[in-house]
Amino acid sequence: MHEYSLADNLIESILPRLASEGVTAPGRVREVVLRLGALEIHSEESFAQAFAMRSAGTPLAGAVLRLEIVPGHIHCDRCDRDEVVGPDDADPHSHAPVMPCPECGTPCRVEGGRGIEPVDLVLED
Ligand SMILES: [Zn+2]
Repeated sequence: MHEYSLADNLIESILPRLASEGVTAPGRVREVVLRLGALEIHSEESFAQAFAMRSAGTPLAGAVLRLEIVPGHIHCDRCDRDEVVGPDDADPHSHAPVMPCPECGTPCRVEGGRGIEPVDLVLED
């Protein structure tokens, strides 16, 4: 599933950083603050679930995810409407997702809402 590979990539990118700070055992990371594109995931819940499963047995086990969701957006040329696109609104598997305009139904290309970026790690004292 998409969420799992995303969680794997995230965990792999964070573990070396933890190791360099001497964090090698579970229980010391309280929170992982993350900037995440809305179009990368189906829902925050399923991503948090994937992260919890994949981080089990690593120093990230038990850490709470704090997500800052970066929304995507569409602009309809026909009725000039702008709409924010969140998780669930567009297919995260598509590389060029399209969403119908809520006003007139014209298919609009979704812009933005991509990327995954660890922002901060909150460690126990
Ligand atoms: Zn429209």
